Amino acid sequence: MRFAVGSATDQGQLRENNEDAFLADSERELYAVADGMGGHAGGEVASRTAIEALRAAVAAGTSLEAAIERANDAVLARAATDSALAGMGTTITALTPETGHQLLVGHVGDSRAYLLRNGALERVTEDHSLVEELVREGQLTPEQAESHPRRSIVTRALGVEPDVDVDTYIVNVLPNDRILLCSDGVTTMLREREVEAILRTERDPQHAADALVAAANEAGGEDNITAVVVDVLDVDDDAAAEAAAAASAAEAAAPAPPEEPPRPSRRERERARGSRLRTLRGAILVLLPLIVIVGVATAALGWYARKSYYVGVSGNEVVIYKGVPGGVLGWNPTVDERTGINVGALAPLDRDRVRTNASRGSLETTRGYVTQLQANVAATSSTTTTTLRPPGSTTPTTTRP
Ligand code: MG
Repeated sequence: MRFAVGSATDQGQLRENNEDAFLADSERELYAVADGMGGHAGGEVASRTAIEALRAAVAAGTSLEAAIERANDAVLARAATDSALAGMGTTITALTPETGHQLLVGHVGDSRAYLLRNGALERVTEDHSLVEELVREGQLTPEQAESHPRRSIVTRALGVEPDVDVDTYIVNVLPNDRILLCSDGVTTMLREREVEAILRTERDPQHAADALVAAANEAGGEDNITAVVVDVLDVDDDAAAEAAAAASAAEAAAPAPPEEPPRPSRRERERARGSRLRTLRGAILVLLPLIVIVGVATAALGWYARKSYYVGVSGNEVVIYKGVPGGVLGWNPTVDERTGINVGALAPLDRDRVRTNASRGSLETTRGYVTQLQANVAATSSTTTTTLRPPGSTTPTTTRP
């Protein structure tokens, strides 16, 4: 892979020093941007310390991810030597070839990597910043985030903790692709379509980097501004066909940023909507009679369970129950009226009818039956003892059969 590179940095219109640092090492094919933060000289020291440690680690054969971890160690170690540097930190976004047609991006913080392909700009990295996390959680719109007063708060940086979580991205590249690494002094001053327009129109990478810095300064230059523009001139021959095939198949340059699925055409959307409506209508047509049947049956059962009475036994006493013997769907029968008749006093035929709950109907019907039972008991009381209790007569009939 061959590259052409341009780079520029500027302290901007408001800051007294430049806490950004960058690396454009064509010999090692290592490119990086770091945006330092911290009081006094802290920010400057942090970004330069990180860049130098990164370069040294990659030169020693360390992987990009591990080299960024070494940079974190170096910033922490440097801060420990000088109380004036305590609390300093830095972002880092670094780029190096991974294979003959792939670039590897390592990233911590809110500096960014972009890919420009065929004139279209695509962000490779996700910011580790408060506002971008709020956007990802849906609490802020991207538009609100652009002007949010706390947009410069980073949630991940080098120099904060001994362990740092490094994001890495593989970018499949094609000849004429252009990569931009930049600090937030570019992206807070310029909208992405302005960045895209500059990268598309400035053919020379150095002119493009200079133009980005100039445009950010014209827009206010509120922060330090750094841009490293890396043009991919060619990729390895044996890998080129593979990369081109992969790119045309998926058009996926960077696997990390979630790509929106291709938006369906209006006709496809309408067709899908119509199909969904037809499915819904079909389901309702099938289910509606079922719903009606179940509803009517439930209502009828409830009515039946609550409006019915029967004559049964509670203890040894003949009683009128409200409900259905055994209960219906949770409506269990309850004793509605006691009669004072001992079941043992009944004639055998009456006793069987009462025990089998054979007399059912309205309250009037069951009362009528009880009156008849009382008459039968009175008629036979002279010849039958009321203490006669057939076996099993104490079994309550209110339990479910
Ligand atoms: Mg900055």
